[in-house]
Amino acid sequence: MVSPKEIVVRALEEGRNKLLEHEAYEFLKAFDLPVPRFGLATSEDEAVKIAQRVGYPVVLKIVSPDIVHKSDVGGVKVNIASDEEVSKWFNTIMSNVMVRAPGARVAGILVQEMVPQDLEVIVGSTRDPVFGPVVMFGLGGVFVEVLKDVSLRIVPLTEYDAEEMLSEIKSARILRGYRGTPPRDSKALVDIILKVGKIMESVEEITDIDLNPVMVFPEGKGAKIADARILIRRV
Ligand code: ADP
Ligand code: MG
Repeated sequence: MVSPKEIVVRALEEGRNKLLEHEAYEFLKAFDLPVPRFGLATSEDEAVKIAQRVGYPVVLKIVSPDIVHKSDVGGVKVNIASDEEVSKWFNTIMSNVMVRAPGARVAGILVQEMVPQDLEVIVGSTRDPVFGPVVMFGLGGVFVEVLKDVSLRIVPLTEYDAEEMLSEIKSARILRGYRGTPPRDSKALVDIILKVGKIMESVEEITDIDLNPVMVFPEGKGAKIADARILIRRV
């Protein structure tokens, strides 16, 4: 296994300022963050083998440094349930991309465990020119995009900081559970927030981390990162 630092250095050497999706998952996994099981396939047969190892249902996604919105070019297929479907969709995605994003470089197709739908939250971080790394937390979708209901803290973070970040957003009640909805696993979220802070402290090349969405399951059942964007720079 390559070290997280090597993943970043290699991407920089290739002239990129962004980790590819499978590199981002590998990086996060090295910090013991909860990422779905995955593998990168460069052939139909390999995709099937990875899917069997990951376990059905799986998601297939195009991996390309030149494609930002994968769904827009027919580059994502969720909820694939059999070997036959993996083969079929591997080829369909490849031809979709050739037609709708001609000339895009393709690193392969990510075969990923399907994360069950649950409460979506966002954990992110960026480097502020004055304050240094700042970590952000909020509930996904309209809560962040429309209501801007987020909490922020400057790194380094204590466990208490992370707990406060969860409780001080206006929509905190949704996290705690209300009417028939269960309380979600806040411990798992505190852990993710603290680790994101640690990464920003220890890996200077990273400028931005965007975990969006993180699926949070009911108390005791953890959380899982369903999409990750990591931006890098030379230091
Ligand atoms: P893009 O935003 O580039 O189109 P995403 O990786 O965000 O591609 O995938 C598109 C959508 O597919 C996500 O917003 C999510 O709803 C769904 N999805 C992607 N990966 C998974 C996964 N591992 N498990 C469940 N749903 C997923
Ligand atoms: Mg997305």
